[in-house]
Amino acid sequence: MKKYFIKTYGCQMNQADSLVVSRILDEAGFKNVKNLKEADVILILTCAVREHAERRALGQIFSLSSLKKKKRCLIGILGCMARTLKERLIDGCLKEGLFDFLLGPDAYRRLPEIIENKFKNYEDRPIAIIEEEKETYSDILPQINYEGIEGFVTIMRGCDNFCSYCIVPYVRGRERSRPISSIIKEIDFLLSKGKKLITLLGQNVFGYKNIENGRILNFADLLTNIFEKFSNLKYLHFLTSHPKDLSFELIEKISKLMKEGKLFKELHLPLQSGSNRILKLMNRKYTREEYYEKVKYLKELIPEISITTDLIVGFPTETEEDYEATLEMVRKIEFDFAYMFKYSERPYTKAREIFPKVEEEVKQERLEKLISLQNDITKRKNEEMINKSYPIIIIKVQNKESLGRLPNNKLAVVKEELEVGKEYIIKIIKIDGWTPIGEIIK
Ligand code: SF4
Repeated sequence: MKKYFIKTYGCQMNQADSLVVSRILDEAGFKNVKNLKEADVILILTCAVREHAERRALGQIFSLSSLKKKKRCLIGILGCMARTLKERLIDGCLKEGLFDFLLGPDAYRRLPEIIENKFKNYEDRPIAIIEEEKETYSDILPQINYEGIEGFVTIMRGCDNFCSYCIVPYVRGRERSRPISSIIKEIDFLLSKGKKLITLLGQNVFGYKNIENGRILNFADLLTNIFEKFSNLKYLHFLTSHPKDLSFELIEKISKLMKEGKLFKELHLPLQSGSNRILKLMNRKYTREEYYEKVKYLKELIPEISITTDLIVGFPTETEEDYEATLEMVRKIEFDFAYMFKYSERPYTKAREIFPKVEEEVKQERLEKLISLQNDITKRKNEEMINKSYPIIIIKVQNKESLGRLPNNKLAVVKEELEVGKEYIIKIIKIDGWTPIGEIIK
């Protein structure tokens, strides 16, 4: 029996993909191992969204070349970097012996066949398969080979938005949604395996669209169907979403589900920039005013909602004035948390052709100032929770401490061993760093 090892980089969609890959290989008679030295096939599931993640994956690929000299094994590169690596291979920028095959995110079904083939023709040149754009893996249930009560369901793949800084549409292809029936089947499967907190994944879940029996079903229809089938399901969550597709009608729908405790009272809504000029150059298709109105309405309906976001500083041509507009939005909205990045140039994207670029030192300065502002807000918002009580669902117990999720999806720690998957009521007694620390009330 051939053994395989997977190392996964990047987002939760890649983590979910790695479970699909595991299922495909397990059903073809391969065995998963946790130690790469034992493996006959080493798979690196890559991310190309930011240069940093790409560099880490490349470092790993280079470090594996010494292993390949010592034993007969295959190295396969999967995921978002497959396309760029294929081009680098063709134009001679990359040595051929580093890996044996490259498979894009829609070509994983081919893995067993490619592996068999490469073992038979070990010395052959690397194989590269990238484009198979209609794939949703909707008939493949993920392999549950991890602990815990959290489960992830990919509801759609690819993206049609072409934000000018983003590589995703070029490496993960056009947007496709899975049929509702296959999503429900997967949730059912995860619940039967003891998972309790389900996250729906997609590059832009609000763009979910599927035609069933001649009717176009959108994200709101998907939620309705899920809760009709699983009336006891609590704290569903979804990632990630595009502000332009968040209608006021959808805000009302999700707010109602949040009030009923069916969804976490949290929304991740990437703002990216607070400047309308930069948002236009980013091709984001909303203005800061529209974004603000939506957040304001959400907060009116659910005052305790946690709003998190993504922000980019140093996008090409960003002036001090544009940057100040971002800081102003951060102060005004008071995000509970933000993922903050310096603009990083990615292959194929339109933003590469936008000049002038912002100097590296300026980007760094802007990022540091933004992080400091947001950190203060995050801490202050968490401190507002002190002396209040909340239900908590425990997701992990480690070193005599329990980690759980609050209804606003924030993580909190209780300094005693509790039961994973069980709900308790805690009172937040202090904030340690940013982390709320709670004591059991019941
Ligand atoms: S919505 Fe924009 S940022 Fe998100 S994946 Fe699509 S192109 Fe990239």
